[in-house]
Order: sequence, then C-alpha cells, then structure tokens
Amino acid sequence: MEKVKCNLCGESNFLLLHKIDVTEKNLKFYLYSRNIPNKKTMTGELAIVKCKNCGLVYANPRCTNRELKLLYSSNKHLGGNWRNWPYLFDLSQPDDLQVKKGYDAKYLNNVAKWRRWRVDFVERYRKKYLKTTVKNTQLLDVGCGYGAFLKAASDFGYDVYGCDLVKDRVSIAKKHYKLKNLKKGSPEKVFGGKKFNVITLWDVVEHLPDPKKLLISLNKMLKKNGLIFIYTMSLDSWSYRLFGKCWYYIDPIGHLYYFSDKTIRKLIETSGLYYLGKELDISRSTKPFYIIKAFKSGLENYIIFNAYQTSGFWQNIIKKVLKLFFKPIPEKKLKKRMENLCPYIFPIRYKDSFIYAGQKRK
Ligand SMILES: [Zn+2]
Repeated sequence: MEKVKCNLCGESNFLLLHKIDVTEKNLKFYLYSRNIPNKKTMTGELAIVKCKNCGLVYANPRCTNRELKLLYSSNKHLGGNWRNWPYLFDLSQPDDLQVKKGYDAKYLNNVAKWRRWRVDFVERYRKKYLKTTVKNTQLLDVGCGYGAFLKAASDFGYDVYGCDLVKDRVSIAKKHYKLKNLKKGSPEKVFGGKKFNVITLWDVVEHLPDPKKLLISLNKMLKKNGLIFIYTMSLDSWSYRLFGKCWYYIDPIGHLYYFSDKTIRKLIETSGLYYLGKELDISRSTKPFYIIKAFKSGLENYIIFNAYQTSGFWQNIIKKVLKLFFKPIPEKKLKKRMENLCPYIFPIRYKDSFIYAGQKRK
C-alpha cells in the first residue's frame, strides 16, 4: 500500500469520503479485487478521498504500482463472481466460470456484437469532426482487453490497433478475432512513433495509477483534429448519490479514480486537449428491463446466499424448494461455488457511465 497525492493538481490535502476496510472475506464485494494475488499486503484500511483543492476523488492509500502490475498480470483478477445463482447447481459448469468465460468462443462473438454501439458512437463523431473516410481512420484502443470492441470496429472498416497490459487477453484477442495490430504493453511504449485519428479508453481511466501522465502521452499520439473518447463511471450519477459506499463501482483496489464531469473535463484539458462534451452510455445497461433483471438476480443471489450461510425456518424452506428443482450437488463443491456468489442486492448500473470526448486541434 502507498499514499498518493492528487493526480490532477499535486496537492495532498483531502477530505475522507469513504473509509473501506478491505479484508480477505469481503473482497468478493468488489469488482476487481476478488482474486488479488497478494491478499496480505493488498488488503487493509483503504479509503476513497476527495482533493480539497480540485475535487478529484481517488483511492488513498492504494496498492503500489508493483502490486497493481501483479494484479493485472493475468486474467485471474476478473474472478469467478457475479454469477447468477442457477450455475451453483449446474454440475456441467466449471467452478471457475468467469475466468473460463473469457476463452469461450460463443461468448467472445456475442461481446463483439454488444460492442457495436461503441462503433456507432465513434462513427457519429468521425462524420462530424474528422475528414477521414472509414477505411483511413486509424483507431487505437488502449486497454483493449479481449479486443471485442476492436473486432466490431474492424468489421465496420476502421484500421484498428490495440494494446493491453494483460498478456492473456492480447493473445486471446489475436487468436480468436484474428486481429493483427495488437500488442502487450502501454501505448506509448508499443506504438510510440505512430499517430492515430481516434484513441479510445473504455473502462480504463479509473484503473490507471497516473491518468494525467497517460493522457499527456496519448495527446502526442493523436493526429491533427484527432479524437479521444474516455468511457468511465461518473460520480454525477443518481446511483452513486443513492448508494454511496455501496455503489457498484466502488472498488478501492481496482478503481483508483472516480471522476465527475468537472474532474474528467479538467483531466482532458490539462493533457492539452479540447473538451468536446459528454454523452450517456447507450448500451443495454440503460434500458429499463436491464435494471429490473439486475435487481431480480441480485435479490435472488442475496436470498440463496443467506439461505446457505444460516439456518432457520425460511432458510430451510428455500433449501428444500431448491432441492426439488435442482440435482443434488456435493456439499463441498456447493460451498466452494457459494464463495464466488456475490450476495449483492444492487448490482445495478443504470445511467451512471458516460463517454467524455476530447479533441486535438493543433
Ligand atoms: Zn487536486
């Protein structure tokens, strides 16, 4: 763990927003922390603070760069969690489902389809702000993961490039989607001399130890009039205001920064770019049926998790009912799988992520 200064203004005066005691037991509550490699040094009294000078919200103390590198060195940090409860009773499924899921061809094909809305989004901006054609638009996706967005962008016709720190993902992206220009490493290192019309960061900026430094580098990697899109969750959302510390995205190990409209604008401007504005995430998570579905599965997870953790009249009834519908599963296996079930009632992401756009005008 280490203490850090504000990434935007360099000040170290802050206000404590949320004190979070991360223990080995409650790790499962957090998005990226479930399978941290070094549970002894990476857990403890963490906090999310707000800079008194500029308002930037960030994790402090937080994992050191070395610990973060370890965290992102393999796919494991994504963990076997957030599963819907029926998988607990399905013996044909592997115990470590979520990790395996990334390798599943059907899943990867579906994700590439789901990512199409991001291509449509970029396309609107290309038409408005760039003089390029689709084919000669060079697009770099920083933190490309399995490359699903790049696959969608490549199918549409863009000239695509991508990089990610997780080696496993880059190799899966290359192998499955047959994408060529993918590299393991940070963008300035692996694409240093190259310039792009569009640079995208989907769910990336909140994970970076030094977002300002990366944005300054990316600014240099943009062509004239080049566009940058930063997709991240926002503190200006109703769900953060409502859930606070229990917000879906609160994760002091994986999420180091929590931006608001004001601070993300400042980040874009301090890197030398013009701020073009923000738009709401128009993916499936903004549809009303999604919120109902998420609430329903969260509530079910919560009930079943508690039924198997405790005993009592209702708990026994729930267990008996489940036995009627599902084949019995060995006690040990069930216990192990239960550990991966997240007993959250509110795994809700609803209108709380935005795409912030910046442009290079020189
Ligand atoms: Zn500050």
